[in-house]
Amino acid sequence: MKIINITITAKIKILPTIEQVSLLQKTVRAYRNGCNFVSEIVFHTKQLKQAALHRATYTELRSGFALRSQMAQSVMKTVIAKYKTNKNIGYGWSLVRFRKPEYDLLWNRDYSIMKDCFSVNTLQGRIKVPFIQKGMEKYFDGSWVFGTAKLICKHKKWLLLIPMTKYFEQASYKNIRQVVGIDFGQNFLATTYDSRGKTTFFSGRQAKHKRAQYKRLLKQLQMKKTPSARQRLREIRERENRWITDVNHCVSKALVSKYGKNTLFVIEELNCAQKEVCYGWYFEQLRQMLEYKARMKQSKVIAVEPKYTSQTCPKCGHTERANRNKKQHMFICKTCQYTSNDDRIAAMNLQQNGIEYIVAVTALA
Ligand SMILES: [Zn+2]
Repeated sequence: MKIINITITAKIKILPTIEQVSLLQKTVRAYRNGCNFVSEIVFHTKQLKQAALHRATYTELRSGFALRSQMAQSVMKTVIAKYKTNKNIGYGWSLVRFRKPEYDLLWNRDYSIMKDCFSVNTLQGRIKVPFIQKGMEKYFDGSWVFGTAKLICKHKKWLLLIPMTKYFEQASYKNIRQVVGIDFGQNFLATTYDSRGKTTFFSGRQAKHKRAQYKRLLKQLQMKKTPSARQRLREIRERENRWITDVNHCVSKALVSKYGKNTLFVIEELNCAQKEVCYGWYFEQLRQMLEYKARMKQSKVIAVEPKYTSQTCPKCGHTERANRNKKQHMFICKTCQYTSNDDRIAAMNLQQNGIEYIVAVTALA
C-alpha cells in the first residue's frame, strides 16, 4: 500500500477578549517591527546565518522591542526565510519590508491548539484564546501534524493559518468502485456523469455573472492610466483571485463529498493554449484541489486528452464537429440523432475514457 502525505492549511477564526485583542495587537506589532529591524541588518550585512544574526540582533530584539526569547528567534527565522525565498525565485537583493502585522508561530513552542483552546505566546506570556470549532473536529483525532502557523489580523478579525499534514493510503485502481467524468465549464462550473448513468450539473450562473462584472471593472480601470487606477486594478485583481480560489474550493469539495471514497474522477487535460489564457491557472488550481481532496478519500483523478470529447456521440461513437452546436450548448448526433446538452456529452465521454483506462491498467497489473 502506497502512503502519501497531504498538507492543507486550516483557517481558524479565534475569539480574543477585548484585553486579549490589545495584547495580541501589541505582540504582532512588536513582532513586525522586530522583523523590519532584523531585515535592515540582513539587507546591509547579507548575513543569512541565524547564529551570526543572533549575535547581532538578539539583545536589541529583547530590550528594544520587548520580545520574549522564543519570539526573537522566530523573528530571525522569518526574516531569513523571506530573503531566501526572494533569492530562490530570482529577485534582486533588495530590502524586505514587513508591512502587515503577522506573527509566525512554531508548534508547541509559540502556540498549541487543542479541541477547545488555542494557546499563544505574547509579550506578556501565554494566553488562552477560544476559537470557532465548527469544522475543526477532524483535525484533533491525533492523525494530523500541526506545522508553523501564522497569526494575522484582517478587517479586525483574528485568524490563525495552520498547515496540517496527514498521511494517507493511496488509492489503488483495484479498489475503484465508480468512475465519474467531469467537464469543467462556465455555464456549469462542473457537469458530471457517473457509473450509474446519472448526470449532475453544478450551476455556474452566479459565478459567470460575477466574472463578467470583474471583467468589466478591470477593463475600465485598464483604460485609465493614473497611478490610483493602477493601484485599484491590483486590488481588484487580488480580490478576484481570492474569489476564484474560494469557488474552486467549493466546487472541488462538493465533487469529492458527493461521490465519496474509491472514485476515479476523469477530467480533461488542458491544452497549451488554454493554459496560457488568463483563466488557465484557475483550472490548474481547481485540478490540484480536486486531486488532494480526492486523495484524502482514497480516490484518484486522471486527466485525459480532450480530443473529441465534445464531438463524439456516446451512443454510437460517431465523431464529427457538426455534432455539437456550441452556441446553443446542444449536441445532436448526425448519425443516430442522439440529443443532449454538450457539457453532459463531454462528461459522458470522459467517464467512458475512465472506464477504458481502468480496464487497461488493471489488465497490466
Ligand atoms: Zn450517435
